Amino acid sequence: MYHLFYQNNDPITAKGLTQQKGDRFLVQNPPALTLTQPQLDKIYSLNYERDQHPYYEKQGSVKALETIRFSIPTHRGCYGECNFCAIAVHEGRTVASRSQTSILSEAQAITKHPKFKGIINDLGGPTANMYAIECAKKLHNGACVDNRCLFPEICPVLKIDHTNQLDLLTKIRQIPGIKKVFVGSGIRYDMVLADKQSGLAYLKEIVAHHTSGQLKVAPEHADPYVLKMMGKPTVGSLLKFKKMFEKLTYEAGKDQYLTYYLIAAYPGSSDREMKQLKEFVTNKLRLTPEQVQIFTPTPSTYASVMYYTEQDPFTGETIFVEKNITQKVAQKEMIAKPTANSANKVENVRTSNPSRGYANKTRPQRSSR
Ligand code: SF4
Repeated sequence: MYHLFYQNNDPITAKGLTQQKGDRFLVQNPPALTLTQPQLDKIYSLNYERDQHPYYEKQGSVKALETIRFSIPTHRGCYGECNFCAIAVHEGRTVASRSQTSILSEAQAITKHPKFKGIINDLGGPTANMYAIECAKKLHNGACVDNRCLFPEICPVLKIDHTNQLDLLTKIRQIPGIKKVFVGSGIRYDMVLADKQSGLAYLKEIVAHHTSGQLKVAPEHADPYVLKMMGKPTVGSLLKFKKMFEKLTYEAGKDQYLTYYLIAAYPGSSDREMKQLKEFVTNKLRLTPEQVQIFTPTPSTYASVMYYTEQDPFTGETIFVEKNITQKVAQKEMIAKPTANSANKVENVRTSNPSRGYANKTRPQRSSR
């Protein structure tokens, strides 16, 4: 059922679906067409308040607003299709990008805002470096039903070129009144490496001008089996990227580093796979990670199908799924920096709301985002 649902989520090819339940029908309409660039530009040209609604003011300030008030979305959609993430379903697998003019105008308008202090916290989207990179075939015929754009390898039809992003970054940081523009959204390192023409120049620009001390990357795990269950690239590309980042950082004379997002207790991950991850972070990344999240099943994802059925939805094979809360916490503690006491952590996991999003993203919850 989930395959059918997922395959009917592309606005060009989707058919409406109905499911009978007793004497009633559940109807899933095909998604709306992806917004064109002029439509997207029009939306972002509106005169937003960049503030919380006055109604909520008496309840205090909204802390999350500080990171998004002066952030600029460059695009919508994501073709990463990580199995734990619902963005491909609710924003679509087709990346719709704003024009450079629209983004630069918004940046200029922000400089006039009375609360603006010169810092744009994030210039990005669901995946920062997908801006202005999309498959021509998908735009005309819809996303492939049986293939993914980035997994298990990057599809040769997808032409990855960061030139437009490079150009945008160079121009936006030169706008009078702007001191810094950070790229706070995650970067797909496999895409940077695949771009033989401008990948290195793009990363050089990010390292030299757009990193706020730490650049976020999301390997999520290191064990090949769990990575396959996640639909994520292998660690080989992560290590290559790390080397490049560190070399460029050294050359730029900066003190900055990579932050790694990791998931514990993902379907398919037992103590054995977490030991493998521990070995990887200790010996290859040489750190004790802070950004480790216990997996929570997000609606409309393959990972949730895995969690509830305890089967690989692509092969039907039985998979191990950790469902015991104490064991989930134990998986996290195998690799994460110790924080509060364990009892509190178990309590936190029980009371956390798995569907709580951040901005327009339904990625797994990160405490720092
Ligand atoms: S041809 Fe390749 S890049 Fe294009 S939609 Fe299909 S899988 Fe994605």
